[in-house]
Amino acid sequence: MKREPLTFAGTPVPLGSTAELRLKVAESYAAEPVTVPVTVVRGAPGPTLFVTATVHGDELNGVGILRGLLDGTDFSGLKGTLIAVPVVNVPGFLNQDRRLPDRRDLNRSFPGSRKGSLTSRLADVLFREVIRKSDFGLDLHTAGGERTNYPQLRADFAHPAVAELAGAFGCPLIVAGAGPEGSLRRTAVAAGVPTVVYEAGSARRLERPFIEVGVRGVLNVLRHLRMMPGEPADPPLRLWIERTRWIRSRKGGILDLKVDLGAPLSRGQEISVHSNPFGRERSVLKAPCAGIVLGLTQLPLVHPGDAICHVALVERGEMDAWRAYWPDNLEGQ
Ligand SMILES: [Zn+2]
Repeated sequence: MKREPLTFAGTPVPLGSTAELRLKVAESYAAEPVTVPVTVVRGAPGPTLFVTATVHGDELNGVGILRGLLDGTDFSGLKGTLIAVPVVNVPGFLNQDRRLPDRRDLNRSFPGSRKGSLTSRLADVLFREVIRKSDFGLDLHTAGGERTNYPQLRADFAHPAVAELAGAFGCPLIVAGAGPEGSLRRTAVAAGVPTVVYEAGSARRLERPFIEVGVRGVLNVLRHLRMMPGEPADPPLRLWIERTRWIRSRKGGILDLKVDLGAPLSRGQEISVHSNPFGRERSVLKAPCAGIVLGLTQLPLVHPGDAICHVALVERGEMDAWRAYWPDNLEGQ
């Protein structure tokens, strides 16, 4: 556990108190401070968990998750400290842009530097003030661009504490991977702070079912870490997914998707039908492999090579278990 007391941007936050703080990360063209809102909830002594959202400025489901969590939870029995950062990338959020105004991707810029670019400086403040002060972390994302993701955890299975955290969240689909170089979770794990990503839904939306799964997931993690009373909910199944595959369009045209998010996919099954502007069918994209639909494009216009469908490759027995589970259980996760 991290040592007492915790201080954020020079403000000490004692045990048993809640503070709403603003971390200065930049200055605007109008020479005003640009600040990141942080809520720190401290209970009795215990571990520290950070939950970050909107590292990509247009990914809003995490804002909804933290709003639901902070507004709807009785933290009087909290043991430890919850650091909630609903809008990390404030400059991107204001522009409804994934990136920052210097066109850099914050999630490739950790741990950042005090003297670097705007993005690098924001990464540095977050890393020093939030991530290094924590024992565990959750980073909330959605699919980027015009895509959507079925609720899933992303975790580096090489670290048992990271895999355990991912399992505790309670989502059945857990996808292996360390994360890209410079990403928040990869850098946090390398710094000794087990961290996982929750990916669900699409950018520029607040999607209630995915937000509800996320709120339950954060509460499950708090209970698993013994920071909150009660037992974490155990999902009916967990699939530890080691391999995934992107299925790309072979033809340009107007797309008619034939599969749903989360659907079990058989080899040879129709994924999409591609037409030309005269309304005539040009081609049918068929699944080259069996699997589970982890992600889908939402833009019905494609070039050859555009990613249509992200598929989890699983064993036959796991596939049978998923067929029995899906689609009725999103609400029950
Ligand atoms: Zn993201």
